[in-house]
Amino acid sequence: MIRPRKIFAQHWLKSEKALDAIVKAADCSLSDRILEIGPGTGILTRRLLPLVSSLVAVEIDRDLCAMLAKQLGKRENFLLLQGDFLTLDLPSHLTAFPQFQRANKVVANIPYNITGPIIEKLLGTIANPHPEPFDAIVLLVQKEVAERLYAKPGSKTFGALSVRVQYLADCELICPVPAAAFHPAPKVDSAVVRLRPRPIETNVLDPRRLESLVKLGFGAKRKMLRNNLQPVIDRDRLTDLLAQLNINPQVRAEDLSVQQWVTLANVLAVGNDN
Ligand code: SAH
Repeated sequence: MIRPRKIFAQHWLKSEKALDAIVKAADCSLSDRILEIGPGTGILTRRLLPLVSSLVAVEIDRDLCAMLAKQLGKRENFLLLQGDFLTLDLPSHLTAFPQFQRANKVVANIPYNITGPIIEKLLGTIANPHPEPFDAIVLLVQKEVAERLYAKPGSKTFGALSVRVQYLADCELICPVPAAAFHPAPKVDSAVVRLRPRPIETNVLDPRRLESLVKLGFGAKRKMLRNNLQPVIDRDRLTDLLAQLNINPQVRAEDLSVQQWVTLANVLAVGNDN
């Protein structure tokens, strides 16, 4: 087995149960075109390849790429790109390989040190959603991140990340994965999650405002929303607005649903234009 490197956050998944759960959650069909980030030794890649039309994998580690190319390079439906997923311009690389069309699903056990930026690249942001959303994104992530991704409003784990991601995608927990399922075992437990990007919201007057409102609203933890939003809206005015929207004026950021954030941002956008 190739020795895992710390700098690339390498932890090889060895649990059959977890691998089965990921593959099942991906619900593969022979027309699917998969994008895998960080194939590592290819344990997940090998399972996916026979089930799908094509798989493009992006791996940063040159040594692993050499090994994967040797072992899987002859598979016609497999394309391996060496590079940093975060900076790689995938579409321009793919123009050289017309048989590998744009992926419709992402399936990956990702490097945990760049989870946030990976999710942002896959979904886009509130102000700038990915123009061609994937059908599904199945990821193995750190348990604490997973909890924030599928958290419901009002729960302790519902934070800015929850709003930003749930605005763009429906998120569900597939299954927990213990640290012992990896070699070497990471310090944290993990979970498989599935994100299904939603059609881009059309009823948001000013997505940029919504984005900055969410950031500001969650700025100081456990504070009332009207205090956190004071820089952009007077406390009394916000109290009135919240009352009009049938929201308790003492509400905290983590109590508002995504829809309520949208409504609030829209009301503020209209208010400010007057
Ligand atoms: N999928 C494998 C490996 C997971 S470990 C398995 O389940 O066993 C994370 C993988 O992501 C490693 O192979 C690591 O080299 C790779 N990686 C780390 N940073 C990356 C980046 N910026 N772009 C692409 N791959 C990266």
